[in-house]
Amino acid sequence: MKKVKVFFLVLLVLTALVGLWRKNPVNMRKYEATEFLFDTECTVRAYGIKAEEAVKAVFRELAELHTLTSIYDKNSQISLINSANAETAVCVDSAIVNMINKAQQVCRDSEGAFDITAAPVTRLWKFDGDKGVVPSNADIQDALDKIGFENFEIDVLKCTVKKKTKDASIDLGGVVKGYAGDVAAEILKSFGVDGALVDLGGNIVCVGKNQQTKNGAWRVGLQKPFAPTGEFDDVIEVESGAVVTSGTYQRFFEHKGRRYHHIIDPHSGYPSEQPYDSVTVVTDSALTADCLSTACFVLGEEKGRELAKRYNAEVHFLSR
Ligand code: AMP
Ligand code: MG
Repeated sequence: MKKVKVFFLVLLVLTALVGLWRKNPVNMRKYEATEFLFDTECTVRAYGIKAEEAVKAVFRELAELHTLTSIYDKNSQISLINSANAETAVCVDSAIVNMINKAQQVCRDSEGAFDITAAPVTRLWKFDGDKGVVPSNADIQDALDKIGFENFEIDVLKCTVKKKTKDASIDLGGVVKGYAGDVAAEILKSFGVDGALVDLGGNIVCVGKNQQTKNGAWRVGLQKPFAPTGEFDDVIEVESGAVVTSGTYQRFFEHKGRRYHHIIDPHSGYPSEQPYDSVTVVTDSALTADCLSTACFVLGEEKGRELAKRYNAEVHFLSR
C-alpha cells in the first residue's frame, strides 16, 4: 500500500515538473521557416514540441498547392483547365474544386466584383511578370467578353471542371493564399502545436494560443498603405482565425506618371479606383477572407461592408 502511494506521489510530481518545464518559455520549442511560394514570401512560425515537424509538413503541402495552381507551369492543373477544349471535363484535385466552389459563391454574392474567371483580363496587365503592361482598350473589351462564371461547371463529387467556351479561363491569384492558409492551420492543429502564426504574403492565420501574450491572443498590425513595412495604422487583437488584406500597394507599376494596381474591376477591366488603398477582412476562414478582401475592395465601402456583414466578417478600409 505504501509503495503504491509513493508511486503515485512520484508520478504526480513528475507530471507537475513536465508541465512546468513545458510552460517555461526557454523550453517551449519554436520553429520558423520562410519560403517563396504563390509569387510571395510565406512564413510559418510554430510553438510546441512538434513545431519543426509541423512547419515542415505545412511547407510540403503548400509546395503541392503551388504546383497545382501555378499558371507558369504548363502541366499544372490550372493550366490544364485553361487550355482545355470546351465541354471537356478535366479531372482535378479536390483543392481546386473547393477553391472554385467558394469563389463561385463570393462571385454571386458580390455580383461579379470578385470573379476568378476574370483571368482573360487580369492576365493582360501582366502583374505576375517583372513589369506590368497597360493593355489597349480594344484588348480589354475583347477580354471582357470572355469573363463569366456561367462559363464553368464544376462537379464537386467527381472533382471535375468543365468549361462551356474555349476562351474561358481561371485565375486563382485572389483565392489560393487563403485556401493555403486554411490548409496550413489544419496541419498545424493536427500536430498539436501550442500556437502558430502563418503569414502568406500578408494573409495572416492565427492558430492556437499566442505564447507571448498573457491572454493568448494574437496582435496583428494593419499595415499603413505605402508606409514602410511594419508601420501600422492600427493593431487588432484576434483569438484565432484569419486577417487578410488586399491592397493597392502590394502589387503595382507606374506608366506615364500613373499608378496601376493589381485589383481589377471585372466589369471595367481596369484597376478598381477607390478612395482607399487597402481592405482587411477578419474572419475564421482564410479562404473566405481572401475572396472577401478583393470583393469588398472592388465593391466600394458601402456595399463592401454589407457583403462582409453577410459573412459575419469584420472589415477595415484604410487609406494612405
Ligand atoms: P488579392 O491580393 O487577394 O486581392 O488578389 C489579387 C489577385 O487576384 C490579383 O493579383 C489577380 O491575380 C487576381 N484578381 C484581381 N482582381 C480580381 C477580382 N476582381 N476578382 C478575382 N480575382 C482578382
Ligand atoms: Mg484575395
